[in-house]
Amino acid sequence: MDMNINGAVLSLVRGDITLQDTDCIVNAANSRLAGGGGVDGAIHRAGGPEIMDECRKIKGCPTGSAVVTKAGKLKARYVIHAVGPIYRDGGRGEEELLKSAYRKSLELAFEKELKSIAFPSISTGAYGYPVEAAACAALKTVVDFLRGHRGIELVRFVLFSDRDMNVYRGVLEKISGCLLTS
Ligand code: ADP
Repeated sequence: MDMNINGAVLSLVRGDITLQDTDCIVNAANSRLAGGGGVDGAIHRAGGPEIMDECRKIKGCPTGSAVVTKAGKLKARYVIHAVGPIYRDGGRGEEELLKSAYRKSLELAFEKELKSIAFPSISTGAYGYPVEAAACAALKTVVDFLRGHRGIELVRFVLFSDRDMNVYRGVLEKISGCLLTS
């Protein structure tokens, strides 16, 4: 599913983030940038040890923020390591931290004049963020950013399961309905 926003395309696909040919891909990292399971492990395995060498030099990233490294053997040129929140009860600033992780990633891509960026569904795996609420925060943040900045031409969400794809599609359909009337 694709949507046009201020000259850019917001796209939802089902797939594997490590295979994306966008200028950068985003990693759902932890604050120590220590690697791990899920999408983080897949990116380091596919990209090779150069990415971890650079992560070690950076020495961590606070929750809600992001840092950039090169992408080793991946097709993308850069990896943006974004740190989403661990979800507890929704009352500990999780939504603002998740939005901030997306926003910071977009800012880094924008500052580097990258044209395309691919995101996974940050925080909704091991970090336990409910998918529908996360999709809502993620998609709203991207829409707001694209409305306020021209430069990034493609934002692609790469969803790893049919279920996630369906949830993101439903949320984007709702958001696009609101945008038409706003
Ligand atoms: P977090 O710790 O931020 O929750 P996870 O990696 O555990 O991060 O999960 C985030 C999302 O990434 C989950 O929906 C998971 O299914 C998905 N995921 C795992 N591997 C990949 C991959 N190779 N490409 C895209 N998404 C992936």
